[in-house]
Amino acid sequence: MLIVMRHGAAEDEVDRVVATIEEMGYQARPMPGKQRTTVGLVGNDGRVDGSRLAALPGVQEIIHVTKPYKQVSREWQPEPTVVRLPGGLTVGGDEVVVMAGPCSVESERQILAAARAVREAGATVLRAGAFKPRSSPYAFQGLGRAGLELLARAREDTGLLIVTEAMDAEGLDQVVEVADIVQIGARNMQNYSLLKHAGRCGKPVLLKRGLSATIQELLLSAEYLLAEGHRQVILCERGIRSFDQATRNLFDLSAVPVVHGLSHLPIVADPSHGTGHRDMVIPMARAAVAAGADGLLIEVHPHPDRALSDGAQSLFPDQFERLMKEVRLIAEAIGRRVAEPAAART
Ligand code: PEP
Ligand code: MN
Repeated sequence: MLIVMRHGAAEDEVDRVVATIEEMGYQARPMPGKQRTTVGLVGNDGRVDGSRLAALPGVQEIIHVTKPYKQVSREWQPEPTVVRLPGGLTVGGDEVVVMAGPCSVESERQILAAARAVREAGATVLRAGAFKPRSSPYAFQGLGRAGLELLARAREDTGLLIVTEAMDAEGLDQVVEVADIVQIGARNMQNYSLLKHAGRCGKPVLLKRGLSATIQELLLSAEYLLAEGHRQVILCERGIRSFDQATRNLFDLSAVPVVHGLSHLPIVADPSHGTGHRDMVIPMARAAVAAGADGLLIEVHPHPDRALSDGAQSLFPDQFERLMKEVRLIAEAIGRRVAEPAAART
């Protein structure tokens, strides 16, 4: 429920609304706006009788949020959330942010070569996993903490920001020390204890859609983060499981406009995991930008044929460079721009 205050409502009128919500056994989230303050009521599971609040001085109207998720909904916050990253980079505004790099950190040589290549082509965030959720326990599991150190080294070398996955609460504490954005992977989208932990981690969180998750389930998982008081959340469409073997996953491009309609949170697209084949990544990356995605997550490897994970869907650096040129044009055609590396922005 949202309690909309009158334009110019006094501070003590807002305080009274907050106190009344707390007396009713719920939590209040005051949100000062340019025009008026809104106070969100959270902690309810079902409809709340708002008559007591409606009668308070300074209250203009009561809005019942009709969706099962509250704070992530457009009803709760009509204007888009803009996630702010170090160096002035933003996700969810006019800029389209390209996050690129290998599936896994494999060695210093590999991650530096990948970072330099994607930086050269114009990416602003380096993506690579140190903790890898693999289907087989015998597959490469990632370098762990040593991988995080290599990512820090790659950031120092290139100025790229870092997005990397945390698979559990213990790993999250390590990831937070290095990452500029903490990734919660598809397999953990419904790991609610990890989400609660991530909601308190203090770094922006990139939440990937689960393997068989509906958009409503994705938004409810994001609600876990916002329920902890976190606001800097980026969603990611990475394909969902389907009956069709022609692609690794079914890349659900329609999730982009659907999420934009239902939520104020930004959504980026990952056509690498979405399709599983490098030749399909390129057209779907173009399409995702055209569809309004707030960013791209693209796997790029200096030698995809030697990659320890996801080589088949990893672009060669020269393919990525061409793709960047194309997505710049596409972004411009819809009134946006691809974010430039920090040095080019200042
Ligand atoms: C990844 O980004 O490398 C990854 C493992 O993705 P997902 O969780 O979408 O499978
Ligand atoms: Mn991968």
